[in-house]
Amino acid sequence: MQVAANLKEINRRIEDACKNSNRSVKDITLIGVTKYVTIERTEEAIKAGIRDLGENRLEGFREKYDYFQGTDVKWHFIGTLQSRKVKDVIHQVDVIHSLDRLSLAKEINKRTEKKIECFIQVNVSKEQSKHGILPEEVLPFIEKLREYENIRVIGLMTMAPHTEDETVLRQVFKRLASLKAEVQEKHYELAPCAYLSMGMSNDYEVAIEEGATHIRIGTKLVG
Ligand SMILES: *Cc1c(COP(=O)(O)O)cnc(C)c1O
Repeated sequence: MQVAANLKEINRRIEDACKNSNRSVKDITLIGVTKYVTIERTEEAIKAGIRDLGENRLEGFREKYDYFQGTDVKWHFIGTLQSRKVKDVIHQVDVIHSLDRLSLAKEINKRTEKKIECFIQVNVSKEQSKHGILPEEVLPFIEKLREYENIRVIGLMTMAPHTEDETVLRQVFKRLASLKAEVQEKHYELAPCAYLSMGMSNDYEVAIEEGATHIRIGTKLVG
């Protein structure tokens, strides 16, 4: 019951954020991040209506994927992916949010025969502790992806710094949104780049106001 109540509150806030920014709730995909929680809790989220699930580690992903096989959910891999582990997720995962280097693109390309939807992870805030390529490297990176025909860049992803300072958060989200626009202007066939994966428990409303299409919520939903 608690997840359903949390979801109701989150949906209400999503609606408000959409109103504030003249957007449609239909354009927002809520990814339930279940990395901290059990199968039971994840099941509660699915029963509450969540259809997109996110995991950041291979073990957690495989455990839940295996358990919920046959359930109509879309699986998002949101954590750092080691190249040698690509083969263990590539046939299960629907979307990868953490493409951050060419060696990973190469491995993904090699291990699959179909197009894999990816977000490029961008380290907008340039924090040392964060993964992702730097904003100025995004276009050159995409140019180099041409060799890898199975990679499809559907959008950009970032993690904002851990702060309550709305000005800082907005700056980060705005930068990612403008980068996405730059990529779209290039009309790359391999990178339609229509989506923005940004916003977590503490900042998803600001992220929506700045254009997020995919928000990734753990703590406030199931935590
Ligand atoms: C854990 C995680 C989230 C969810 O974080 P919460 O603050 O618990 O909502 C979102 N995105 C990524 C990449 C994560 O690792």
